[in-house]
Amino acid sequence: MLDKLKELGSSIGLNPADWSEQDIEEQKLGWYPGHPTPDDPLRWGRTFPEGARETLQNTQMRRNLGYATGKIRTKRNTRVEELPDWEELREAGSLIKRNTLAHLPELLETFEQKVTERGGIVHWARDAAEANEIAYSIIAAKGVDEVVKVKSMATQEINLNSYLEERGIEAWETDLAEMIVQLSHDMPSHIVVPAIHRNRSEVKAIFEARMEGRPRFATNEPRELAMAARAHLRKKFLSAKVAISGANLGVAETGTLAVYESEGNGRMCLTLPETLITVMGIEKIVPSYRDIEVFSQLLPRSATGERMNPYTSFWTGVTEGDGPQEFHLILLDNGRTNVMKDEVGREALKCIRCAACMNICPVYRVSGGHAYNSVYPGPIGAILTPQLLNATDRKDPATSLPFASTLCGACYDVCPVKINIPEILVHLRHTITEANRGGLPNAWDVAMKGTSSVMSSGKKMERAGNAMKAGRLAAGRDRKIGHIPLPVAKEWTGTRDVPAPPATSFRTWWNDEHEETK
Ligand code: SF4
Repeated sequence: MLDKLKELGSSIGLNPADWSEQDIEEQKLGWYPGHPTPDDPLRWGRTFPEGARETLQNTQMRRNLGYATGKIRTKRNTRVEELPDWEELREAGSLIKRNTLAHLPELLETFEQKVTERGGIVHWARDAAEANEIAYSIIAAKGVDEVVKVKSMATQEINLNSYLEERGIEAWETDLAEMIVQLSHDMPSHIVVPAIHRNRSEVKAIFEARMEGRPRFATNEPRELAMAARAHLRKKFLSAKVAISGANLGVAETGTLAVYESEGNGRMCLTLPETLITVMGIEKIVPSYRDIEVFSQLLPRSATGERMNPYTSFWTGVTEGDGPQEFHLILLDNGRTNVMKDEVGREALKCIRCAACMNICPVYRVSGGHAYNSVYPGPIGAILTPQLLNATDRKDPATSLPFASTLCGACYDVCPVKINIPEILVHLRHTITEANRGGLPNAWDVAMKGTSSVMSSGKKMERAGNAMKAGRLAAGRDRKIGHIPLPVAKEWTGTRDVPAPPATSFRTWWNDEHEETK
């Protein structure tokens, strides 16, 4: 039966070959199966080409993604164009972040001191295991079996929800898109819009099958779906004793933290429960309170195309009679100090997680976030994931990520903190290639050596140009060369057509044209 269904799905271009019973069940319920929760959210186990081969079969996802990224891009461009000093703001954001990284140890110590002075409790976590254990021990001490959560990439990165679930604690995601991902037993595919790969019909099906109380909807109108989510979440907000959040930034000068969000769920989580636990990557620090001015302009415009997020929450330690009366801050390293060691690669730590690079990237927009096999997809994921994992061995699937790019540079153009992503991609490609030298050269090494030798000699280039003309014989009527079953050439032509070489090389044409002037 399972085989028959898989066959049927494949025949209509929907169904990857390795769907499980649960995947088939989800397809019957009305949505394309999600990606199961991996053991390590940074490394799901497959290379980018393997992941993309599967995601490219999901035509519905590609339609959803194309529509949603197009909309966000247009909004972002409108909001950016109305600021005459946008380039100066980008420069300021970049310099503040670079300065932060240069003084990170001192700034973190000041930040810890300020948070502590204001009644917060600071914990340091070297890795995901330590961060999860700290969060769990705080929650367990409160004797609760449920917590509410604000959308946070740091807690996704450490797989906190699964860790708590295995210990009998349910972590309820309260961001609408994050909730859709959670209910469909899926992984996020975008860092700002985690369910960007879903359309409203799928969301309706997910809510009807998995939301508490199994609501039924007359239509798939966003308002109707959002109202059901609102009613479901309100009960959680009012009963939760503990909330977990991330932070968009932390101010060293004052010990203040900030969360920018659009739905108000963050504000509820940050103010209603008695205890708040915030997990923040150590690179999220900014030196002074005035720096907020810069990021409050850069982030909303780049992330959602808004002048300002509808809800921007700031808090500093604990305030008597107002908001959570116990505040724990977990400062997460998890590979960041390793990234700091690389002078070129460390620029990735300037990232403010706006996702503008994803929305513009021609590779991400077609392949989707799950192809990257990490919670950090798109151009920033391609440079951040391998560095956080210190991945250089070609056998590590994360080393495929820096190669998942056309190097078109669009990500650099839109990045609000001017991270030169193409430069870091090339740098990481070089590092990975160098780290895997030794042993017998493979076909690519031989081909690259040969190309290098030909391209550094005018005479050899001329001979190669003449020899290439023979390639015209291999071209079809459309003047394209298809699959060539030879080493190296078969990898290149396996996914792309090569145009037939011209009948005359540039060199020959030039000589003919200038014959009389010789
Ligand atoms: S790399 Fe730049 S554009 Fe991409 S998410 Fe980070 S800040 Fe945004």
